Amino acid sequence: MELISAIVPSYNEQEALPYFYKEICRVAEEFKKKDVEMEFIFVDDGSKDKTLEIIKNYAAEDERVHYVSFSRNFGKEAAIYAGLEAAKGDYAVLMDADLQDPPALLPEMYAAIKEEGYDSVATRRVTRKGEPVIRSFFARMFYKIMNKMSDVDLVDGARDYRLMKRVMVDAILSMTEYNRFTKGIFGWVGFKTKWLEYENTERVAGETKWSFWKLFKYSLEGIIGFSTMPLMIASWLGVIMCMVAAVAIVFVIVRQLLFGGSAFGWPSMVCIIALFSGIQLLCIGILGQYLSKTYLESKKRPIYIAKEKR
Ligand code: UDP
Ligand code: MG
Repeated sequence: MELISAIVPSYNEQEALPYFYKEICRVAEEFKKKDVEMEFIFVDDGSKDKTLEIIKNYAAEDERVHYVSFSRNFGKEAAIYAGLEAAKGDYAVLMDADLQDPPALLPEMYAAIKEEGYDSVATRRVTRKGEPVIRSFFARMFYKIMNKMSDVDLVDGARDYRLMKRVMVDAILSMTEYNRFTKGIFGWVGFKTKWLEYENTERVAGETKWSFWKLFKYSLEGIIGFSTMPLMIASWLGVIMCMVAAVAIVFVIVRQLLFGGSAFGWPSMVCIIALFSGIQLLCIGILGQYLSKTYLESKKRPIYIAKEKR
């Protein structure tokens, strides 16, 4: 019998979990008829509400339920890693606890791997219905910039909802970096992936855990983790500014020789100094971003700390 591990990162999901559990159990019944077992791995990402309690209740009555509980909130990326580590299945699927990744799609995803020979089936939403307009706008911008800047392909609207074969799970687990940008990691490891499209659904209960600021930082994480283009831009800015300076020096010398002393022009000088120091600070800032990531990476801290598991 084959086994599918469903990995569910859950952070303060006490409202959504009952709906999710009911739905995933229904899908598991469907799979059972096809001789496929399921296990559910809930990763409690340091929730402050009753999430862990609810998960433990499920685990007490249901053999298929396993859980990892973090000592604090480590973020969804860490939760995904912990879940994949705990998964014993021949396949693993990542899904949100809020039913925005409809479990009902799972049989179709499984069929694509089984019958069409894909290594993984991923999903993307074609609409961003129910999302703040400004958030959609920045999300679109991010994907455009990211795809220009980095070697890995990022699909606009891609969700983390993805069914993978064991080989791909092991490949992802072999990437033990501390600064994890899972969307980039999926692309980086490769494998033949089928994309399923679906309409965005709104979360069934509870609230989104992503503020605009959190998403912004997440996008920077992606750019710095999967592209060195900003460093290149900093270097080229330096080159261009040197050339501008060279032209300016020649201009000043020639003018001095032809027309003599020039005391006027200090306002323009102030502007130039301000501009150039701004560019310098920007470039140092870019360097600093990479350096800080390297610093964190070199500490080799664990990706998460588990308090309890089953
Ligand atoms: N999540 C998590 N840790 C976090 C934030 C979110 O494990 O720090 C989980 C959350 O419980 C949910 C999934 O990640 O299962 C997606 O979060 P959410 O629905 O809030 O994001 P959105 O769908 O709004 O992008
Ligand atoms: Mg959601």
